[in-house]
Amino acid sequence: MSVLTRNEAQTRAQLLDVHRYTVDLDLTTGDETFDSRTAIRFTAHTAGDTFVEIKPETLRSLSLDGQPLDPERLDDNRYPLDHLTPGTHELTVDATMHYSRTGEGMHRFTDPADGETYVYTQLFLDDVQRVFAAFDQPDLKSVFDLTVTAPTGWTVLGNGTTTRTTDGRWTIAPTPPISTYLVAIAAGPWHSVTTHHAGLPFGIHCRRSLAPHLDADADEILDITRSCYDRFHEKFDEPYPFDSYDQAFVPEFNAGAMENPGLVTFRDEFIYRSAVTDTERQTRAVVIAHEMAHMWFGDLVTLTWWDDIWLNESFAEYMGYQTLTEATCFTDTWTDFGVARKGWGYDAEVGPG
Ligand SMILES: [Zn+2]
Repeated sequence: MSVLTRNEAQTRAQLLDVHRYTVDLDLTTGDETFDSRTAIRFTAHTAGDTFVEIKPETLRSLSLDGQPLDPERLDDNRYPLDHLTPGTHELTVDATMHYSRTGEGMHRFTDPADGETYVYTQLFLDDVQRVFAAFDQPDLKSVFDLTVTAPTGWTVLGNGTTTRTTDGRWTIAPTPPISTYLVAIAAGPWHSVTTHHAGLPFGIHCRRSLAPHLDADADEILDITRSCYDRFHEKFDEPYPFDSYDQAFVPEFNAGAMENPGLVTFRDEFIYRSAVTDTERQTRAVVIAHEMAHMWFGDLVTLTWWDDIWLNESFAEYMGYQTLTEATCFTDTWTDFGVARKGWGYDAEVGPG
């Protein structure tokens, strides 16, 4: 696979502005693959050559400004866009994509407890191309406008509020300009607890077989969420930039959590199934606060390239501990911070700059 270099990303960012992705996903085509249709509106500032990334099972068709392109020209994960003329263009891509079981791209999971199936995306750091065609780099931000066809009985969650239109089709409110790695959907017969806070819909979600355990902790999770949300508003001048705040506890998640705007995903081990210590509850609360900090620092304001990920993560972690201490019943978090995090910082300090 061709891995995007920093030089390639800089060259592409100088050539292009990306305006809008209109993405149509169909999750009803079988257990192995899903359909993905994408239209990308973008402007080329000068004449030039570039490429778009996609990792399809089958690349059915493409067109540029209405003219068909040859799908056979896909080279590994790159489709070349040669001799672009200056001006605004529309690229359409129609493909069949693989579900994954590795937590990369569109992960698909069937719950052994009840046979129910769930899918969710994890697109950090360069896996959007496993779901739809994209100029996959963090500084080419765009509006994302997604529509999802899902099986009957499923709920579709996305970065924006979702609406079920006709049977099985869901529209997701278009995002403000965000990076490709931050697009998210989660679909399945979720068990959900929803509420409103500060005029926005808030929700927490898990697979159905964990419903009693989520319900047992729903008040605690939502109280922490509301308290941190209010405290961040006191600290940051900028209001929360998105239209909803969903937190989905998803199965077989590789990381602790992911700060998708408006749809944070957490490993569902955070839905505790037996008695846990206060420290474990505090750890979950820190992660909730950390991911919420990213809504501003990471999602609204985003690194240009991955060499600044240290700042993104360090600031979210610091804000997470600080905000939790200020706003919730977890008032002794700095001890944990000193034990769990400070040593990392010292180690990083003495490393190469
Ligand atoms: Zn983080």
